[in-house]
Parts: sequence; C-alpha cells; structure tokens
Amino acid sequence: MNATRTAFHAHCRDGLDALRAEGRYRDFAQLERDAARFPVYRQGGRDVTVWSSNDYLGMGRHPAVIAAGQAAMAAHGAGAGGTRNISGTSPLHAALEAELATLHGMPSALLFGSGYVANQAAISTILSALPGFHVLSDEKNHASMIAGMRGLPGVTRHIFRHNDLGHLERLLAAIPASAPKLIAFESVYSMDGDIAPIGAICDLAERHGAMTYLDEVHAVGLYGATGGGISERDGVQRRLDVIEGTLAKGFGVVGGYVAGREEVVDHIRSTASGLIFTTSLPPSTVAAALASVRHLKEDGALRARMAGPARLLKRKLDEAGIARMPSESHIVPVMVGEAKAVREVARRLMDEHAIYATPINYPTVPRGGERLRLCATPFHTEAMMDALVAALRQVLPKAVLRQAA
Ligand code: PLP
Repeated sequence: MNATRTAFHAHCRDGLDALRAEGRYRDFAQLERDAARFPVYRQGGRDVTVWSSNDYLGMGRHPAVIAAGQAAMAAHGAGAGGTRNISGTSPLHAALEAELATLHGMPSALLFGSGYVANQAAISTILSALPGFHVLSDEKNHASMIAGMRGLPGVTRHIFRHNDLGHLERLLAAIPASAPKLIAFESVYSMDGDIAPIGAICDLAERHGAMTYLDEVHAVGLYGATGGGISERDGVQRRLDVIEGTLAKGFGVVGGYVAGREEVVDHIRSTASGLIFTTSLPPSTVAAALASVRHLKEDGALRARMAGPARLLKRKLDEAGIARMPSESHIVPVMVGEAKAVREVARRLMDEHAIYATPINYPTVPRGGERLRLCATPFHTEAMMDALVAALRQVLPKAVLRQAA
C-alpha cells in the first residue's frame, strides 16, 4: 500500500468526475482528414464536414507543401536527430528562419517546436532579462503567453481589459517611468474573432517607454500583402519589438517562431530553455512549412478567397436568426453560454448531421462564455454552409436563436 499513489489516484478520479458533472470532460473526436477533400473528413465509415479546423487555408494538404515534406523526409530522414545545438540545425532551418524574418519585416527570426513553446519561452526570457519588469497583458491572451509571464521572480503582471486602450494607458501611467515594461497582446483573438488596435497600442508603448510583444498566430498567412498578419496589413510591423507566430494554422504544418531585432532574437536563442533543451523540428516539417510560407507570400489570390466564405457564413447565420458574436475576422463564434448545452449541441451536430464544430469551454473561455467556434475556409461550399445553418437551427437552444439580430 503506497499512500501517495492512493491519494493521487483518488484525486484524479474525483477531478475527472467533477469535470464530467460540469460537462467539461475532454474526449477527442477521432477524425481522419482526407487531403483530397478538405474540409471533409472520415469518421467510422462516413463523411463529416469539419467547421473547426485551424488549417485556415488548407495549406496542410496543398500539393506543393506535401511534395516538399516528402522530398525532405526521403532526403534527410524522419527526425532532426538533436537539439539546434547538437546537429539539429540544417540549411532548411536557416532558410525558414530567414523567410520568416522577411515575412515580418524583421532582421531575425527563431523557430520553436510550437507556437505555445515560442510564447512561453520568449516571454519568460524577455521578462527575466531586466530586474523589476512589468508586463501588461490583454485579459484574453492565450494560455501560452500567460504561461510565459506567471511565477517569475520580480515580475509584476497587470491585466488590461480586452482591447481597452484607456485601461491600458491608466495601468501604464501608474507604473514608475523608469521600470521596464512589456505590452503583450494578440492581433486576431482566436475565441472572439476580433482584432487588436496594434498601431494605437504601439503609440501607447512609445509614450510610456514600453516594449511590445504581438502574437499573430491566428493571422499569419491570412492577412497582409504577403501573409505577414494584421501588423503587415496595418503597416506597423517595424513598430513592434517581437512578433510571434505559428506554422500550424494558416501555414498548415506545425512549429512556432518569434521575429524581432537581431540582439533580441539572439538573446532568446542563447538563453531560452524551451529552445535549448529540446530536439529541433524535423527537416520534413521545416521543408513543408518553408514551402507553405513561400507559397502564401506569392498567392494573394488564395488569401483573398478567405474573406468571402466568412462573410457569407456570417450573413447566413444572421438571416437564420442565429446569434453569432460580432467577429471582424474569419473566426465566427456562436455563443451558447453553458458547458453542458454547448457539448450537447456539438454532439447532436455530429451524430445527427455529420458536422463537426468544436465546443469551447472553460478555461479556454470564461464560464458562461461557452461557444461553438466556426471557421469558414475557401473550401467550404455554400451547400455546406446551408447544411450547417439548417442543422444549427435544429440543435441550438431556443434562447440562442431568440437573441438573433
Ligand atoms: N497563441 C494563440 C493565440 C493560440 O491560439 C495558440 C494555439 O491555438 C497558440 C499561440 C499556440 O500555437 P501552436 O498551436 O502552434 O502551439
């Protein structure tokens, strides 16, 4: 009899029971993507239309991306075989970093295993660099950014109301002028689909002597003339200190990165534990991502095809009296407002209509903010939209339908 193990196992069971009771137990739908028919997936012998993929432009199944990944796998093998420092840096890694630096108009860029690790590692490294750092964090920032700013000795965290410039300015003004400050925020907020006033935040940063850290995870590949995100679209890339992105969403592969000035990126490269002590991305992944970034730099037409489906989906939801959140982007959330209800909506969509839409629960959103998060890609047809809207009319709680504009 081992008392620690017994207590821990009881803790696990109780915790899982509590999650089930709240409707927040996580079970993952097993969906098999059909590269030729995206966004149609296979599940248990039937077709399912997926409305929740973050592969926003379908680049994960683009022939040029697949070919580049396959060629690199054949030429270089499956894994990188080491950390960046221990034979895990190939010319492909260097080429992708150079491409990402150019994409963001920055002198330098650095790859990480994922966007999560990039945020956690880069933010904690920056905040540990100078004594007495104050970090000002948008209340809707992603968990990976929060992971990078929590529990650091000597660092004070201030949470500003979402996209609220007045609140941010008041917080900045209350911090001693001489203290080091970092404003950390996102461009496209992934659960609401709204967009930060990047230029105005940079103005505040200049006025109060703060650095800026922008997460462009849900915008890279999709916005800006070459896919550099909202900061490229708004012409403010060079005003930012660090831009962070992912290769996993608009670029359709996997991996994360930061871009910034040489000394900043070099400092992160030299000191971030989340970079130094982990195996680097496999060459096949890097080659696929490089092909995707290069393709999207040139293919403005695919990017332009992104806006239409999101606009059409929003219009169809509005016309059908389905209350959606006022998103400014390709992300279209439909608020349900209760954990069990949103799970039941998702279950019925899947079981009765062969439609997959992810139910979003606490802690990803606050309690009471439970929602379905829909993303229309250029590959979702109008017929798919009509089927989704008709199914939603059947499975959404009456209150959600009544709140319609
Ligand atoms: N930042 C934001 C805003 C995100 O939504 C996510 C993931 O969804 C990440 C970072 C992490 O990116 P990755 O999926 O590449 O780890």
